[in-house]
Amino acid sequence: MRIILLGAPGAGKGTQAATLHEHLNAPHIATGDLFRAALSAGTPLGLEAKGYMDRGELVPDDVTVRMLLERISQPDASGGYILDGFPRSLAQAHALDEALRARNETIDRVLLVDVSEEELVRRLSGRWICRACQTPYHAISNPPRAEGVCDADGGELYQRDDDTLETVRNRLGVYRDQTAPLIDHYTEQRVLARINGEQEIDSVRADLLAALTQSHG
Ligand code: ADP
Ligand code: AMP
Repeated sequence: MRIILLGAPGAGKGTQAATLHEHLNAPHIATGDLFRAALSAGTPLGLEAKGYMDRGELVPDDVTVRMLLERISQPDASGGYILDGFPRSLAQAHALDEALRARNETIDRVLLVDVSEEELVRRLSGRWICRACQTPYHAISNPPRAEGVCDADGGELYQRDDDTLETVRNRLGVYRDQTAPLIDHYTEQRVLARINGEQEIDSVRADLLAALTQSHG
């Protein structure tokens, strides 16, 4: 299956992608993770993306689309994938539609994880991420078993530079202006399912899995 997880920064996409990845046996492809990996490796792509990420702005569409299309052409994505954080603009959605059409493929489901802005700010300000495997934790609502250490692989947990209050406000504005229009785009394609993301992690997970087995709306 080819799935898109749509939702504002902090909605819980990365948290839920781990389960979906196991359930569907499909790779979890997060454009934010790809940019951060490029930046740690010091590649030109990473250095180009850095300024935009620091300001909480979108990296330009041409760069982002090229990176994503290359990633979904890898052999491990041939049977499907879970996209997280892409597309984030109508131009990106159109580029993806076009690339899929050329391969005679479609997106099976777009899962919109819906969370209020107040809760998004609370979640991002308490978020800790594993440096090695990118698993997200929350200081209060989803803490690791040992402070500062990832449950999955023992990796060191860190707070992202762009999870500061000022940058979070920018990122939420960018989501409202540039990404939220994708809700109409995928509603028109009759593939969108809206999930209440403001529940316990396990309840969100159950609703996401249920939406995957329901027929298209
Ligand atoms: P996204 O990938 O959409 O930006 P994350 O999965 O990184 O969001 O989650 C953002 C923060 O919210 C993390 O600290 C995570 O532990 C926490 N979180 C995720 N889902 C929930 C939930 N259902 N309830 C409370 N906190 C959550
Ligand atoms: P995320 O990890 O999804 O919160 O993304 C972190 C940052 O990476 C964003 O604030 C953007 O600067 C950049 N980014 C990630 N995905 C995209 C995308 N699809 N389009 C443009 N920029 C992106």
